[in-house]
Amino acid sequence: MAQVTCSFCGRNKKDVDLMVSGISAHICNFCIDQAYQILGEEEKTKKHDKQPKFKLKKPKELTTHLNNYVIGQDEAKKVLSVAVYNHYKRLLQKEDKDEIKIEKSNIIMVGDTGTGKTYLAKTLAKVLEVPFCIADATVLTEAGYVGEDVESILTRLLQSADYNVEAAERGIVYIDEIDKIARKSDNPSITRDVSGEGVQQAMLKLLEGTVVNVPPQGGRKHPDQKMIAVNTENILFICGGAFDGISRHIANRLNTQPLGFSKKTDHEEVDRNNLLQYVTAPDLKSFGLIPELIGRLPVLTHLDPLDKDTLKSILTEPRNALTKQYIKLMAMEGVSLEFEESGIDYIVEKAVEYNLGARGLRSICEAIITDAMYELPSDSETKELVVTRKYAEEQFDKSKFKKLQVA
Ligand code: ADP
Repeated sequence: MAQVTCSFCGRNKKDVDLMVSGISAHICNFCIDQAYQILGEEEKTKKHDKQPKFKLKKPKELTTHLNNYVIGQDEAKKVLSVAVYNHYKRLLQKEDKDEIKIEKSNIIMVGDTGTGKTYLAKTLAKVLEVPFCIADATVLTEAGYVGEDVESILTRLLQSADYNVEAAERGIVYIDEIDKIARKSDNPSITRDVSGEGVQQAMLKLLEGTVVNVPPQGGRKHPDQKMIAVNTENILFICGGAFDGISRHIANRLNTQPLGFSKKTDHEEVDRNNLLQYVTAPDLKSFGLIPELIGRLPVLTHLDPLDKDTLKSILTEPRNALTKQYIKLMAMEGVSLEFEESGIDYIVEKAVEYNLGARGLRSICEAIITDAMYELPSDSETKELVVTRKYAEEQFDKSKFKKLQVA
C-alpha cells in the first residue's frame, strides 16, 4: 500500500500525531493547526474592516444617552455633546474646495473630584463605540526622566482598540489630573520643571495632531519592541482636573472686573457656592497651565458640585445605579432587598460628611451591606432584607469608616 503523506507538507503518517484523510488528499495535525491560525487572522482583519466607522449621533441624542447614566451636570453634557459631534463631523469632512478647515475641539473639564468627569468621558466613548482610554497626567514626565513618556498614553489607546491602528486614530483619550502638571508658580522658572511645564510642552504636539511612534507594550521595559506609528490628528482628547484653589482666582477676577461684574449682577447674583461655573481660560493660565496648552484645549466646561439631592439620585436612578446592583445581587440569592428612603438618606449624609463625592457612595454601601452579603447566601430562612436608617447606622458604626473617624 502506498505510504500516506500529508498533501500540504509531505510529512509521513508515522511522523505526525494525526492524519485526516479526504477524498484524494490528507492533512496532518501540524497543517490543520497552521490553517486554523490563518483562518483566525483572516477573521480578525475582516472584523476590523467591517467595523462601522463610528456611530455619529446628534448632540441631543448624545445627551439623552448620557442622561441614562450620568445625573445632573447639564452644562457639561451639552458642551461635551456639541464638541464630540463637531469632532466627528470634522472626521467626515471631505476635501473641501472652499478650504474651510474645521479645527479640532479637544476639551478641558474643571470639577471637584468624584463629580463625574471620568464617568462622562467613559460614557461618551461607550455611546459612540470608539476606543477609549484613561491616562493619568501625574505619571507623565518629560522624555528622558524617570516616569512615563507622553507617548505611553497612546499605548493604552492602542490596546483598547485591539491594536487596530485605524480605530485607535479616531478614539477618545481622557487625561485625568491635568491640573497636577500645572506650573508651580506664574513666573517661568529657569531650572528644569520635570513634572510641570516640560510635560505640558510635550503634550502640545500630541493634542494638536502629529505622528507618534508608540511602543505597543508601553514603557521602556521592552527596548527592542517594534514601534507603531499613530497619527493623533483625529483623536479627541478630553482633559479633566479638580484645579483645587482655582475658585480663588475666579473670585479675584470677578471682584477686580468691576464692569463685567456689575453687568452680571444686574441680572443674576454671583453664585458663591459654585464659582467653577464662571471658569475661563485666563483662570487656567493663572493656575499654571501654559497658554499654548490652553489654546489646544479650546472647549472649556465645568462640573457642578454634588449636593445631597444629586447624590441621592446617583444612588438610585441611573440604569446601573448602585442600589439596583445590590438588589440584583440579592435577588440572585432569592432574597428581596429593599432600601427605605431613610436608609438612602443616611448613606447620602455619610457621603457628604466624609466629603467623598459620588465615589464614596460605593464604599459606604459596601460597609453597610457586606455582613448581609456574607451571611445570606448560607441562610435559607431569610428571604427579605430592608435597609432602614437604623440598620444602615448599626452596620456603618461597626465598619472601618467609624474607626477612621476615631483615628
Ligand atoms: P472624577 O470627577 O473624579 O473623574 P468619576 O467620574 O471617577 O469622578 O466619578 C466616580 C464615580 O462616581 C463614577 O464611576 C460614578 O459611578 C459616580 N458618579 C460621579 N458623578 C456622577 C454623576 N453625575 N452621575 C452618576 N454617577 C456619578
